[in-house]
Amino acid sequence: AKSIGRGTYCFYEESVDKAQEDRRKLKLELSGALERGELFLLYQPQFDCDTGVATGFEVLVRWRHAERGIISPAEFIPLAEETGAIVEIGNWIIDEACKEAASWENPLRVAVNLSPVQFLEDHLAGYIADTLQRHGLAPRRLELEITEGVLIEDEERALDMLRTLKEKGVLLAMDDFGTGYSSLSYLRQFPFDKLKIDRSFIINLQSDPQALGIVKGMIGLGHGLDIPVLAEGVETESQLAMLRLEHGDEVQGFFTGKPKSIADYASLTKASEKQ
Ligand code: C2E
Ligand code: CA
Ligand code: CA
Ligand code: CA
Repeated sequence: AKSIGRGTYCFYEESVDKAQEDRRKLKLELSGALERGELFLLYQPQFDCDTGVATGFEVLVRWRHAERGIISPAEFIPLAEETGAIVEIGNWIIDEACKEAASWENPLRVAVNLSPVQFLEDHLAGYIADTLQRHGLAPRRLELEITEGVLIEDEERALDMLRTLKEKGVLLAMDDFGTGYSSLSYLRQFPFDKLKIDRSFIINLQSDPQALGIVKGMIGLGHGLDIPVLAEGVETESQLAMLRLEHGDEVQGFFTGKPKSIADYASLTKASEKQ
C-alpha cells in the first residue's frame, strides 16, 4: 500500500490536473456559448456627481452556463482571450450594446469594455463605425473603455488605434485608472475623454487619508488635462459625499445602481423628465 505522504501528493497532482481539465473544458464550451445564446449583458448606470442625473451605462457581460450557473467575465474573458474567441464575442457585445442604446428614448451613453486582444485587431474601428451606422447610433453615445495595460505594450500602435477610433467620433475612457503606470506625459499624448478611477482607491476613502489624497490627486490630474473623472465602485453614501466635495464628475457603483438587466432601468432609459 502507498504511504499517506505519497497518497497526499497524488491527490494534489490530481486536483491540479482537474483544475486544468476544467479550464480546458470551459474553453471548448466557450467557443459555442455565443451561438447557444448563453451570453448576456447587464447594465450599470453612471451618474453626474452633482446633479444625480444619469449620464450612461457600462455594459458588463455574463455567461449563463448550463451546469455551472452564471460565470463571471473575470473568469471567462481571459479564456476567450487565449482562444481568440474574444474577437467574435467582443463584436457581439458592441453590436448588442449599440442596438440597445439606439432604442432608448433618453440618449444616454453606452460604455463597452475592450479587451487588449480586441483592441489590437485591425478591423475594430471599421466594425465599430459600421455597427453605429447599422443601428443609427450617434458615435458620441458610444464610449470605449480601455485599460492602461493596452497602451504600454506597443505605444505607437496603441496611439494609432486610439486616433483611428477617435476619428470615428466615439469617446474613449481610460479604465482602472491608477492601477497601471500612467504618467502625466502619457495621459497628455493619448486622446482620452474620461478617466475612470479604479474602485480599489474608493474602497478606503473614509478610513485612509492617503486614499483620499490619491483620489484628490487623480481628480486634479484629470481636470488639469480637461478630462472628466468618474469614480468606480462607489458603495456608500459617504463615499459619494466625499467625491462630490472633491469635485469628481461622475460616479458608478453599487450605491447608485448595481449591474442589472436593462429592463430594470426603464425609468432611466425612458424620455428624461426634465423638458
Ligand atoms: P471593470 O471594467 O472594472 O468593471 C467593473 C466591475 O466592478 C464589474 O465587475 C462590476 O460589476 C463591478 N462593480 C461595479 N460597482 C461595484 C461596487 O460598487 N462594488 C464592487 N465591489 N464592485 C463593483 P464584473 O461585471 O464582474 O466585471 C469584471 C471585469 O470583467 C470588468 O472590470 C472588465 O474588466 C471585465 N469585463 C466585464 N464585461 C466585459 C466585456 O463586455 N468585455 C470585456 N472585454 N471585459 C469585460
Ligand atoms: Ca470597465
Ligand atoms: Ca474599471
Ligand atoms: Ca477592474
